Amino acid sequence: ETPILAAEDVTKHFHARDGVGRHVTVRAVENITLRLHRGRIAALVGESGSGKTTLARLLAQFYPVTSGEIRLRGEPVTGPDKRFAGEVQLVFQDPFASLNSLRRVEHNLRRALRLHAHPAADEDVRELLGKVNLTPEAEFARKLPHELSGGQRQRVAIARALAVRPSVLLGDEPISMLDVSIRLDVLNLLARLRDEEGLALLYITHDIASARYLSDDIFVMYAGQMIEGGPAESVIQRPKHPYTRLLIDSSPDPERAAGSSAFTVGEKLGEPPSLVDPPPGCRFHPRCPFAKDECRTEVPPRVEFPDGGWTTCWLHATRPEDTPTP
Ligand code: SF4
Repeated sequence: ETPILAAEDVTKHFHARDGVGRHVTVRAVENITLRLHRGRIAALVGESGSGKTTLARLLAQFYPVTSGEIRLRGEPVTGPDKRFAGEVQLVFQDPFASLNSLRRVEHNLRRALRLHAHPAADEDVRELLGKVNLTPEAEFARKLPHELSGGQRQRVAIARALAVRPSVLLGDEPISMLDVSIRLDVLNLLARLRDEEGLALLYITHDIASARYLSDDIFVMYAGQMIEGGPAESVIQRPKHPYTRLLIDSSPDPERAAGSSAFTVGEKLGEPPSLVDPPPGCRFHPRCPFAKDECRTEVPPRVEFPDGGWTTCWLHATRPEDTPTP
């Protein structure tokens, strides 16, 4: 099946200045392929600074790729493309980012409905609020964003994204600013939208427990690269990369509360590597308890597994020169 939205071998470098004013290249995303399918939720997991937000913004066409391609329904997208606004919507960590805080909920939703030449009757506004479980709809329609709780506001932001009838929702840490007690409700809402609307969803998070709860597939990013991926079951039950194992081991019991983890990998391992001058070979080698000689100099190849998972790690690969010749 052709993915609805895909990043194919995408790289993004930013030019910036370092602390002493020198020009540097920030290698935010390198050679990443990620494909999103109708009716499936993919989670993109990694600590802050791993490049996951940059990848989401590339997928949403916020800025152009340095190399590689973004494809919508198999067609490469180059530059501004009207189809995008209707098909791909981003939901931010902070719902205020997508709402006009001075206008009532109904105004915010009507505006989104109209933007895409859709009639904006009261009935349409009520339908959207019903889809995100904000009932009684008429009551919520009249409220201002600041009169809502954080969870209700995020539901309005999701309703606003749905107003344009997208095929893809990209959720950038959509629950991380919410109270622990309501995170699960928002995750359940996203799961329902996948099932009832057939949306393709990308769920971006630093919290592998919530990724496990919600997702069909999990992809793990480290220092701008994708280092493991596959069906959620494969990644969680049989992690192949030491970094993924560490994320899982540091995470609280997923049955307890999805999204409740307070851990950051940094606390356990120190600072993540610089994206200006990343370590050679495997970028995880300075932090990896299993690092061997080739890890420090040679980039590990991608290795596929029968359970549908894959990783890039020398623990699972053999260098051609190490293979005995018959
Ligand atoms: Fe660790 Fe080497 Fe695997 Fe990198 S390639 S994760 S350093 S064992």
